[in-house]
Amino acid sequence: MQERDLQRLRDKLLAYKEELRGRLESLIDETARNLADEGGVSSETEFQGYEEELTLGDNERSLWKEVQDALQRVERGTYGLCEGCRAEIPLDRLEALPYAAYCVRCARQAAVS
Ligand SMILES: [Zn+2]
Repeated sequence: MQERDLQRLRDKLLAYKEELRGRLESLIDETARNLADEGGVSSETEFQGYEEELTLGDNERSLWKEVQDALQRVERGTYGLCEGCRAEIPLDRLEALPYAAYCVRCARQAAVS
């Protein structure tokens, strides 16, 4: 991969990470506000409510992890290589999905199994 492509994709990942952080933070803020509004509930109920709200952020959190993993691959110099077959992931796939860890074929296989 060209250095400038790598840089650009890394910037994309960093920007995406910031966006996710914002979304997760507002989710947590909202949860805290909702719990404060309810008032007078037992601490056990509060905790359950909190857990539920956090589940709503599951999508964001798993994306967050994927973005983190991708940034680690950038550090290690393995970014853009498929985690399954070690082939280079085509640049257009990375442009669309900068945190992609697998080539299309391996991703399909993972989805099937
Ligand atoms: Zn592969």
